[in-house]
Amino acid sequence: MKSKRPGTNTICTHIGEVKDEQFKGSVSPLFMGSSYAYEGVDVKRYPRYFNTPNQEALCKKIAMLEHTEGALIFGSGMAAVSTTMLAFLQQGDHVVLQKTLYGGTYNFVVEELHKFGIEYSFTQGFSEEDFSKEIKENTKVIFIETPSNPLMLITDLKMIHRLAKKHNIISMIDNTFASPINQNPHDFGIDICLHSATKYMGGHSDICAGAVAASQEHIDRIWNLAKNLGGSLSDYTVWLLERSMKTMKLRVKAQNRNAKRMAKWLDNHALVKKVYYPGLKDHPDHELAKSQMRGYSGMLSFELVDEINPDLFMESLSLIKQSMSLAGIESTILSPKKTSHALLSSEERQRQGIGDGLLRFSVGIEEKEDLINDIEQAFRKVNDKSLEKSVV
Ligand SMILES: *Cc1c(COP(=O)(O)O)cnc(C)c1O
Repeated sequence: MKSKRPGTNTICTHIGEVKDEQFKGSVSPLFMGSSYAYEGVDVKRYPRYFNTPNQEALCKKIAMLEHTEGALIFGSGMAAVSTTMLAFLQQGDHVVLQKTLYGGTYNFVVEELHKFGIEYSFTQGFSEEDFSKEIKENTKVIFIETPSNPLMLITDLKMIHRLAKKHNIISMIDNTFASPINQNPHDFGIDICLHSATKYMGGHSDICAGAVAASQEHIDRIWNLAKNLGGSLSDYTVWLLERSMKTMKLRVKAQNRNAKRMAKWLDNHALVKKVYYPGLKDHPDHELAKSQMRGYSGMLSFELVDEINPDLFMESLSLIKQSMSLAGIESTILSPKKTSHALLSSEERQRQGIGDGLLRFSVGIEEKEDLINDIEQAFRKVNDKSLEKSVV
C-alpha cells in the first residue's frame, strides 16, 4: 500500500495553507480579525480560542510534521509548556522531570507548581532506574528533554514510553532542540511533544512562539485550559511562523551538516578539550541518538583548554555572535556559566558536568570555512593577549 503522507519539504511548504479563494494568490492570506459571526457558522472563532483561520491552518502543518492528530500554537514556548503541564496535573498529583531541563521550564516547576499543590521530583540521571526511582503512586506526568541543554545528552524515548505505559502516566517531551525534522517522539510512543517555536520552527531569531502536538484527545484537554489561560499567538506572528516553517527542513538539514563538520573540526583542535555532539562517534549516547534521531541538530557544546580564557575568546569572535537564544540561521555562541546556569554555584555546575570553560554553540548556515576562520582568528587574538600579559 502506498503511503499518503507527503514528503517533509512538501508538508513544510504546502500543508496548512489558508486558501486564497478570492484572489487565487499562492500565499496564505492573513486574517487579523478578532471578531467573527456566531450565527450560521460551523465554528465560533476567536483568537484566544486558538481557532482563527491562520492558527487552525498552521496547527495542521505542525501536527503532520510531528506525526500526531492535532496541535496548538502558543504565544511562547513557555506558554505551551506551562499550559500543557497544568492541563494534566492537579492538586495532589506528582510529576517526574528529567535532570537538566531548559531554565524556563525548571523555574516554572520550582516557582509555580507548589502553589497548585502539585509535587515534583527531578531525576539523578537519564537511565531507566533513575526515572523508575522517582515514580510514586500519585505520579501523573513524566517530562523529558532530549537532546539536553547544553551537554546534548540523550534520553531513551522507548524506555520512557515503556515506563509511562507501565505506570499509566502521560509522557511529555520538549522536542525543541531536535525539531520535528530530526526527531518525532510520538513515533516512539511519547504522548505529547512540546516546542519553543522561537527556535528551529521560527529559525530567524525574530519570532517568539510555542507549540504542542499530540492525539486529538490530549489536544482537546490542553485546549480546555489554554482558552482559560489565554496564551494564544497573534495571527500576524502565526502568519510569519508559517512562512518560516516552509524552509524548516532546508535550514535544519544545513545546520545539522554544519554542526557535524564543526564538531569534528573542534574535536581535532589543540585548544579544545572536549566536544559534546551526539553525532560524534565517541559521544556516550551516539548509538542511542542514531536509533531515535534522523539528524543530530545544529546544537553542540565544547570546552576550551584551561589556558584559553573563554570570555576573551568569545569577545574575540566577530562573525559568531554572543547570544542568549539559539537555532537561528546565524551562528551564535553562549556561556552557560554567564546565562542559563548563572544561578548555580561553580561547584553545582561542575557536578552537572558544566565546566566554566564550556561554550554552547548554535551552528547556523554560513559556510564552514567562514566559521573556522572566525574561530581561528579569535584563538590568535586570545593568544596574543595572553602573551602581552605574560610580558608585562
Ligand atoms: C527557548 C526554549 C524554551 C522556552 O521557549 P520560549 O519561546 O522562550 O518561551 C523551552 N524549551 C527549550 C528547550 C528552549 O530552548
